[in-house]
Amino acid sequence: MAELQGNEPLEVALASLSVHPQVLVALDFDGTLAPLQDDPENSRMLPESREAVDALTDIDGVHVSLVTGRAFENIMRVADPHPDWFLVGSHGIEVVAPHERDSYASPQLVPEGLLQGFHQIAQDIPGPRIEVKPFGLAIHTRGLEAHVAAAAEAATRLLCDEWPDDLVMRSGHGILECAVSDRTKGHGLRSLWEILDVRATLFIGDDVTDEDGFAVLGSGDVGIKVGEGPTKATHRVADPHEVTRVLWHLHERLASR
Ligand SMILES: [Mg+2]
Repeated sequence: MAELQGNEPLEVALASLSVHPQVLVALDFDGTLAPLQDDPENSRMLPESREAVDALTDIDGVHVSLVTGRAFENIMRVADPHPDWFLVGSHGIEVVAPHERDSYASPQLVPEGLLQGFHQIAQDIPGPRIEVKPFGLAIHTRGLEAHVAAAAEAATRLLCDEWPDDLVMRSGHGILECAVSDRTKGHGLRSLWEILDVRATLFIGDDVTDEDGFAVLGSGDVGIKVGEGPTKATHRVADPHEVTRVLWHLHERLASR
């Protein structure tokens, strides 16, 4: 397990976190619990990580949340979440507590004309997949030839730049999104802290949008960036397999307190 230069070793940071009676374990999904796939519908949690997160969920005082860019209904379908997990979807916009899950209905706030614009792009440039979210649209380009991905992204940026209302553009690993809300994963974490009255937090994520989450963490919290790239996180691991090891390490600490 690795730490960024100047920070305490990850084992030490996790030991300090485990001292708190209430701990939030907030986890991104794609690229963190589930290895990235060309077709995001095929993403599944590593079975060993699923086992670790389920085991953490069973510990008194431990609260688990997925914090993902996926919309609520999408993460319900793809992640098969444990009934006790909180779900923060659409980059912090949708915050759904376990008991609210059955009655939660995502609103649909994407303007019709924008939706048509995205479908036109997919028609003009075959290859990219369009994902319709409650608060925005995403174009998926992972696995496509570089020139096709670049053309699709350029057309998407042009469409959104010229849209009369303010839209928020976000890019990630093989995805470009345009949303009608500027809420971020940082807002999502803050909402969880309010609902749960918990502050001690472990947050793990792999992508640019996870930086908004790392940015709101406090001095006692632990942020772990998965993979390469600049980050505000305190620690870094290489890939989802190392995330599994971190989760089991934390479980050992918390279960024995
Ligand atoms: Mg991710």
